[in-house]
Amino acid sequence: MTPTEYHVVCRQCTFESLERSEDSATTAADRHRNETGHKVVFARLV
Ligand SMILES: [Zn+2]
Repeated sequence: MTPTEYHVVCRQCTFESLERSEDSATTAADRHRNETGHKVVFARLV
């Protein structure tokens, strides 16, 4: 079984994070966006 991972990346600085679930990816993206006002996206890695 392959674990699903989510790669969270900021478009406006070097912030990035690898998360194990969509929930934690969303949380990480929201946290950075709230702290910095940056645009953060995440993509699922298969
Ligand atoms: Zn940023």
